[in-house]
Amino acid sequence: MKNIIIIGGGTGGTMCANALLKRINPKTRKDWQITVIDKSEYHAFQPDYLHVAFNGMKPDKLFKKERSLLFAKIKFLHDTVTKVDLKSQTVATEISGILPYDYIVIAPGSMPNYDMIPGLRESNLDFHTSPQDAEKIYETLKTSIGGRFVVGVAGVPYKCPPSPNESAFLLHDFLKKRKMLDNSSIIFVTPYPKFYTAPAISEITEKVAKAKNIEIVTSFNLDHVDVQGKKLVSMEGNEIKFDYLFMVPPHKAPDFIKGEEFTDKDGWIKVDKTSLKIEGYENAFAIGDVTNAPTAKSGMTAHLEAEVVTSTIADQINNMSDKEYMFTGRTHCPFEVGDQKAVFVIGTYDRPAISVNPSFENYMLKKIMGKIYWSTLKGSFTDIFKIYFGEDYMKVVKKQ
Ligand SMILES: Cc1cc2nc3c(=O)[nH]c(=O)nc-3n(C[C@H](O)[C@H](O)[C@H](O)COP(=O)(O)OP(=O)(O)OC[C@H]3O[C@@H](n4cnc5c(N)ncnc54)[C@H](O)[C@@H]3O)c2cc1C
Repeated sequence: MKNIIIIGGGTGGTMCANALLKRINPKTRKDWQITVIDKSEYHAFQPDYLHVAFNGMKPDKLFKKERSLLFAKIKFLHDTVTKVDLKSQTVATEISGILPYDYIVIAPGSMPNYDMIPGLRESNLDFHTSPQDAEKIYETLKTSIGGRFVVGVAGVPYKCPPSPNESAFLLHDFLKKRKMLDNSSIIFVTPYPKFYTAPAISEITEKVAKAKNIEIVTSFNLDHVDVQGKKLVSMEGNEIKFDYLFMVPPHKAPDFIKGEEFTDKDGWIKVDKTSLKIEGYENAFAIGDVTNAPTAKSGMTAHLEAEVVTSTIADQINNMSDKEYMFTGRTHCPFEVGDQKAVFVIGTYDRPAISVNPSFENYMLKKIMGKIYWSTLKGSFTDIFKIYFGEDYMKVVKKQ
């Protein structure tokens, strides 16, 4: 029996495992064992953490058992990976020990890096890390009588680029509904020179923010948080006072790959940005938040990358090597601007994000994507996605 190991049963890893099982020729399939390893038994739908924090959605609605999201022939190991050795083609785990592989896909996501900013952990409430953390924001808001709410980007990089901006708008919706706007101010703080990184999207969404009296502080490089004084202090010595702090922390790659030869200076896995092969290896791939591919760290990215990687691996196993599959860098990040309106951040490696007007239709599209998420993991909507994304879905090139 040959082995394909997938590290991480999140968006990218789960899609990868299911798509591979479908793509490997049924005659050959019996010779291959696909194994997903995840330290958690549960898979969370992360985009709705925002709605736990600002709309009071219940966290238990966002989880499903990972086993139930994988086809029966895929093995699921509830275990923690401690090391990957690409040279000896082995993975070490806490419980199962050393596992050999023929192909590997590394998809363990990213995690908050609070150590980068002194005082942030003690002062911040964070909707990014878990729904339980997000719920603390809602509990705080319910008992608040108003004040200075500081939200935004504490440091880069982080996953889901629009989420800090969305938090400002969803907070505004909450304060409006509770008639607390008169006693409150929302201050959006970012190290970027604009409200949002993509200029076309920034132009549109900044206007909406200003119309809602959301104050925007750009180019603020957070150095530390003065916990007692309740203020942010920038590297340039500027200060911003807060009563409530709901910032998105900077993120890092999981610790088990720290210092490995296949990571870059910032700790992300060095991949070829189109094939997603780990530099120097033909049978090792990385997808999702953990790579250094110059695109958004988002679920949709992990989804499209999984399509590329599984097509490549399946062709090799099926002895069909006349095609090359390439990730286009496509982003498709929904960006809520409050009052049930949204824009989408849509771009590729070759095309910057284009301007999109906020609309109820886009808001509904985001909701629909959330509703179909669980079936998407088993590939139920692949044909619809291919039509919807067109040439951006992935580039297929005939080898000479
Ligand atoms: C608030 C918020 C809103 C978001 N909104 C959107 C959105 O609207 N659209 C969008 O596309 N994306 C969104 N995202 C981002 C999206 O959820 C992530 O980018 C996506 O889940 C990344 O997929 P992944 O497979 O790389 O990692 P993940 O889905 O995070 O999965 C990683 C898995 O690896 C496991 N793992 C980690 N370390 C180990 C280890 N040592 N051993 C075993 N297992 C391990 C973890 O337990 C986890 O299950 C949002 C994220 C947040 C937090």
